[in-house]
Amino acid sequence: MRKKIIAANWKMYKNPRESLSFLDTFLPLVAGHERDEILIFPTATSLSTVIDRVEGTNVHAGAQTMHWLNEGPFTGQTSPTMLTSIGTTHVLLGHSERRLYANESYEHVNLKLKAAIAHDLIPILCLGEMLADRQTGYTKDTLLAQMGAALANLPTEKAQTLVIAYEPVWAIGTGSTATPDVADQAHAIIRGDLKNRFGPVVADAARILYGGSVKPDNVSALLAMPNIDGALIGGASLDPHSLALMVQYA
Ligand code: 13P
Repeated sequence: MRKKIIAANWKMYKNPRESLSFLDTFLPLVAGHERDEILIFPTATSLSTVIDRVEGTNVHAGAQTMHWLNEGPFTGQTSPTMLTSIGTTHVLLGHSERRLYANESYEHVNLKLKAAIAHDLIPILCLGEMLADRQTGYTKDTLLAQMGAALANLPTEKAQTLVIAYEPVWAIGTGSTATPDVADQAHAIIRGDLKNRFGPVVADAARILYGGSVKPDNVSALLAMPNIDGALIGGASLDPHSLALMVQYA
């Protein structure tokens, strides 16, 4: 039985003071909830504040992106060791907004993924097709190409902790959630590819999250599907009551 993950991607919202105010409301609402893993991905300037505040609770915090090198002349970047030095446990990699607005390629994501694993950070690899891919029947090809580039040359023993987030770009921030069946079909493609690549043990253990307009009123139907092991939530995770409702989805 895979433990489900409810993950909040705060994107470029919430400064440290706003993050603490969120947690003051949210943490008591989910205290003692051990059925699922609860993760929050604040913006870089709020990350250490959130990590300190959730210490000793059932909530963990991660970064929204990182560089693959430990240091260097890379203005604006944050390294794996900088993240681990403040107690970061997870990192989002390859989010479509990074690919769209920061020119991030899956070749970069591949380097980042290997660096995250080397530093004991749990990577959440984001992938998903554009609307045009889906409309022209290329969803499967697109997902397999993204997996192939992101996971290239990753040895099976390094793939044990892998978490994948299927986020169809047409569903992000649009209100057009994938139906549970559509999402589950995509997750099955991803799990099948993990099986081909790493074998059944890794494929059965890997958590595959769905992201794209998840809200309190659609989360339970999505999470009831056999291949959907959690949710990566943007807009609806910014309100503590809304996120707590999604933690208590069933
Ligand atoms: P929304 O939930 O706002 O659609 O965002 C999804 C997402 O991008 C999470 O990473």
